[in-house]
Amino acid sequence: MLDSTANNTDDNSNSNSCREIWQKVLGQLELEVSSANFSTWFSSRQTELISLNNGEAVIKTANIFVKEWLEGKFHKYIFNALTRTTGLNIKRIKYEVGSAVFRPQAVGRVLARTKSNNDQPQFDNKTNINPKYTFDNFIVGESNELARAACLAVSEDPGGEYNPLFIYGGVGLGKTHLVQATGNAILTAKTKAKIIYTTSENFTNDFIRSLQKKEIEVFNKKYREADVLIIDDIQFLGLKEKTQDQFFHTFNALYQSNKQIILTSDRLPKAIPGLEESLVSRFECGMIADIGAPDLELRIAILENLLQAKGLELDADSVGYIATNIQSNIRELEGAVNKLFAHYQLRRCQLLFDEVKKLLKDVISPPRRHTLNSKMIIETVSSFYEISRNDLLSNCRRKDIAFPRQVAMYFLREETNASFPAIGKQLGDRDHTTVIHAYKKILKDIEENNQVKSEIATIRQKLYISAKSYS
Ligand code: ADP
Ligand code: MG
Repeated sequence: MLDSTANNTDDNSNSNSCREIWQKVLGQLELEVSSANFSTWFSSRQTELISLNNGEAVIKTANIFVKEWLEGKFHKYIFNALTRTTGLNIKRIKYEVGSAVFRPQAVGRVLARTKSNNDQPQFDNKTNINPKYTFDNFIVGESNELARAACLAVSEDPGGEYNPLFIYGGVGLGKTHLVQATGNAILTAKTKAKIIYTTSENFTNDFIRSLQKKEIEVFNKKYREADVLIIDDIQFLGLKEKTQDQFFHTFNALYQSNKQIILTSDRLPKAIPGLEESLVSRFECGMIADIGAPDLELRIAILENLLQAKGLELDADSVGYIATNIQSNIRELEGAVNKLFAHYQLRRCQLLFDEVKKLLKDVISPPRRHTLNSKMIIETVSSFYEISRNDLLSNCRRKDIAFPRQVAMYFLREETNASFPAIGKQLGDRDHTTVIHAYKKILKDIEENNQVKSEIATIRQKLYISAKSYS
């Protein structure tokens, strides 16, 4: 697979040294890009340095998506890392699509990737998928482009390079939309594909029912015959031991026959409480992509799209007001539009800014600092990390308790008006310097560690949702 030109170069690169160089480059890139981006676009399955001649590097990529992303988004990073690693004057990097690259390790053995034609399914497609969710009506911004690209890639090549696909992000950010769009796109291309969409809760219920009725064979057959199995909100599987075991077998059966598995969650696999290590590593062995909170631009674009779909016109002030105030959740944007639309239908005349403000009074939260209190923060953080309130407030220094405590300190500082000494008092009578240290540490972690970033975003959403239900 390695290019022979790599052997006779003045850059002293042969296939082995290409491999070595690339490992070093990857090592640097891993520190520079987010972990979701790294595992999606750079893992050794996706990329390979195949030659380095006269300052020209050729990088082979697993498919066109990877090529486009490397060229468009990461070229500078790659260029710098390659220059640093080799000390050479790199003049050009060529990205090529090839069936590069090391195959994923299957569960226990190397996958046979050939698909026979006669395993085309002949089932009806009872997919549970809503046809309204498509890629066409999914609006792309910086926060969701990675997840969208990942889903699009899977829809083009189900059971291919990106298996399993794991999409994670907070509530109402488009996970269900994207994975169902993926299912719809696959169905459009292959009308006979057997696609199952379910939530982890329905999967669990289905499993329990089949146990009660002694129909486990039927259950197994149903799920193991899927060409594409989509399980939404997999985080709820964490505490269901028996269902996890069952799912583990289903997962392996599908994976080994190159059937696509798509999962969503509100957090990364390793942050799902109670999820067995074996499943964590299965979930991590494919492609992981995150969806972050939408920025203002994306919120405006989605809002305008929703308004247009309803034939509702609002002035720029109203649009700006809504998009500025509803920040963390696209489902809430939809809720706001529905509310305005209901009113519009009664009155049939254009809504003015003052009316919009009045109508959305309940939807748009008052400034958050005053609605969130320390009790809610302590409760939400301890429940997210599955520890007790007493542990959170205790002196225990174990990492699984000390870290959530630091997170609580961070939120108390960010979301209430409390001073550092006051926060220290609330959290087990600690010194204010400890709180300052914790606060700074979490700020730094958010910058540097994708998992922490996503956990903080999810907890923040949960806090805002509970703040609303209290008010
Ligand atoms: P999640 O599964 O992450 O909780 P959903 O997929 O249910 O979120 O999204 C909530 C609502 O917001 C859905 O109606 C979805 O169509 C819409 N939505 C989310 N993201 C986008 C987007 N980028 N473009 C258009 N609609 C979106
Ligand atoms: Mg969902």
